[in-house]
Amino acid sequence: MRGVVFLGDRRVRIQDFADPEPGPGEVVVRMMATGICGSDLHVYRRDAELLRDAEPTIVGHEPSGVVETVGSGVTRVKSGDRVCVNHYRSCGHCRHCAEGYLQWCSDARGYGGPIHGSHGDLLLTDERNCVVMPDEVSFVDGAFVACAGGTAYSGLRKLAVSGQSTLTVMGLGPVGLSAVLIGKAFGARVIGVDVIEERVALARKIGADEAINGATEDVVESIRAITGGEGADALYEASGSAPGRRQGIKSLRRGGKGVFCGVGTEEETLNLTEIISRELTLMGSFVLSLRLTYDLVQFLADSRLSFDPILTHTFAIEDGEEAYREADESRTGKIAFTW
Ligand SMILES: [Zn+2]
Ligand SMILES: [Zn+2]
Repeated sequence: MRGVVFLGDRRVRIQDFADPEPGPGEVVVRMMATGICGSDLHVYRRDAELLRDAEPTIVGHEPSGVVETVGSGVTRVKSGDRVCVNHYRSCGHCRHCAEGYLQWCSDARGYGGPIHGSHGDLLLTDERNCVVMPDEVSFVDGAFVACAGGTAYSGLRKLAVSGQSTLTVMGLGPVGLSAVLIGKAFGARVIGVDVIEERVALARKIGADEAINGATEDVVESIRAITGGEGADALYEASGSAPGRRQGIKSLRRGGKGVFCGVGTEEETLNLTEIISRELTLMGSFVLSLRLTYDLVQFLADSRLSFDPILTHTFAIEDGEEAYREADESRTGKIAFTW
């Protein structure tokens, strides 16, 4: 099998690996679609010196495909099933795993480091991670569920947005754009904000009610104007930037709720006095639980929602170098490898 490996300093190599064999309880999935994520880019840009002695590991953590082979004891999935694969392998027995929060397990292992990821022909995982998708959910949608779309869904479930809500989405990369689509599907009035015009335009195109370019407009003033001076009911923060976080909090109404999923700046961005006086509720959110992986697949099937409008580029993995160069520009919607 072939897989994409990072060499550091924005260089990648397509390398041959032995095909994985499933052990007890394990499943090998033949990849059909897998997205490039912002967190892959952090590693792609890393200094080559830091990666020099690392064991070559296939990158990527948004797996979706067809079950190829199953190990002994596997009963719930079978060869030929269409599955999306939850983000982390884990022990399966601790209380976090029991609740479906595989990402909280002390033995959590993310695809793409420390274990082989999804930018390869085959992926080795556990039976519990495989969520069978009905035919109406595409492989590309399955890849979105595994990370970008799932991260957006999990945050919006915490915010409980509905037809009564005005929702600001700060940062319109693939996660923010997913939040725009899901926010609309939940019935909210959605305001998208970014500083890159291509992404502002994309948000408008996929159905954001309002889209603001923070490079040319005053974000807080604009949101106040749109909401009759009140501010937004809910904030989904996906920019990970200090200005994005500050503007997002400032543009919430009194008693508003915000969820933060964008990682990036280390700068201090919280003013607790402001949170007290305006009675804000602010939460963190990190990928999604196994339970919500099931819920999102069902939601996509029931509502016939697809993340397809966010997908702007597809590549074969042999063109991994070009795919990452394009993603590195941060001007596109989602970029995915497809087979
Ligand atoms: Zn991701
Ligand atoms: Zn565990």
